[in-house]
Amino acid sequence: METIDKRDLEQIVRKLASNEMAGRDNDTFECEEAAKFVAESFKKIGLEPAFTGSYFQRFSGRGFKGDAIIGSNVGGLINGNDEKLKSEYIVIAAHHDHLGKYYGKVMNGADDNASGVSGIIELAEAFYSIKSLLKRSLLFVSFDAEEDGMVGSHEFIKSGAYKTKNISTMICFDLIGGSMFKCVKDYVFALGAEHSDVLESLIDKSASIQGLNVTKIGIYSIGSRSDYSPFKDRKVPFVFISTSTPWYYHTEHDDPERLDYVKMEKIARFAFKLIFAAQSLEQKPLYINNPKVSVRDSAQLLKLCEKLLENKEEFEWTDEDTVFIKKQIEKFSNDENQNDFKMKQIVQETLIHMVLLALRVKDKK
Ligand SMILES: [Zn+2]
Repeated sequence: METIDKRDLEQIVRKLASNEMAGRDNDTFECEEAAKFVAESFKKIGLEPAFTGSYFQRFSGRGFKGDAIIGSNVGGLINGNDEKLKSEYIVIAAHHDHLGKYYGKVMNGADDNASGVSGIIELAEAFYSIKSLLKRSLLFVSFDAEEDGMVGSHEFIKSGAYKTKNISTMICFDLIGGSMFKCVKDYVFALGAEHSDVLESLIDKSASIQGLNVTKIGIYSIGSRSDYSPFKDRKVPFVFISTSTPWYYHTEHDDPERLDYVKMEKIARFAFKLIFAAQSLEQKPLYINNPKVSVRDSAQLLKLCEKLLENKEEFEWTDEDTVFIKKQIEKFSNDENQNDFKMKQIVQETLIHMVLLALRVKDKK
């Protein structure tokens, strides 16, 4: 775990989110360069090529607008050592593509998602150095064309290169270098673990990193937002790790100098502990279809709402914000509302308000 280092994370982010990479839009020369950089990093560490002798999985698929999409996933493998369990995989993933240019301005995508890719490369290095201790196999994948509708991860699943019944857990990183706003600067969100009791408890056991607040929230609160989505559809237990969308999300301001590399190091170390525990489980985690999580989530959101009221000066705050947040606090504290479906809706509407509030932070640095 000591090899996970903020300077290495920063170096990788600066490489992938440099102007030369031109925003890494899939099916461009620059995005292929980014894919090659990830493949070379995997090779240098010692990972085996994950796709029948190759680090690359070329694919063609359809984007969310129905358009034809071409790209390259990149995969590297560390084989496990347990006779029985080594045929099971933990998929550790992020996406390397971004949005290219917008009206001539390069969108560097440092947080989205050079940060996540730097995380999986550092994790690959850390796990390679203890590979003799691994029971299950670890599959590191950098997906392409996430921004077009998670095309790379969908095609990965469809290809059958790794059967979903052999994937015991999926860990997905997308945007791990920032924070929604200052008063939650130490927060990282772990979403989706409610679909597996075991992963829930492994998160709690792995979360004791000083200065890092790991907050679990149900995946229903954001829907299908990143590459965990096709795994979730196939009922693969998963955890989505993200610091969420700050004001510069999907703009030309998502640059390497904005990221918090100390925090990223902490997040990667938390993930190391979580993955190490998950790969050594006796039993494969079971997927729970309809977890009831609204009671836990409403408690988390209640805390966040109170934080916001205490830190109004951070935002272009209006009276409507005060009315809304106070109303939500009341709903979260009201026992009559402890109906799972209804409470989930309240959690969702509160999160949407917070994401929009993030666009109104005063200090845009
Ligand atoms: Zn992303």
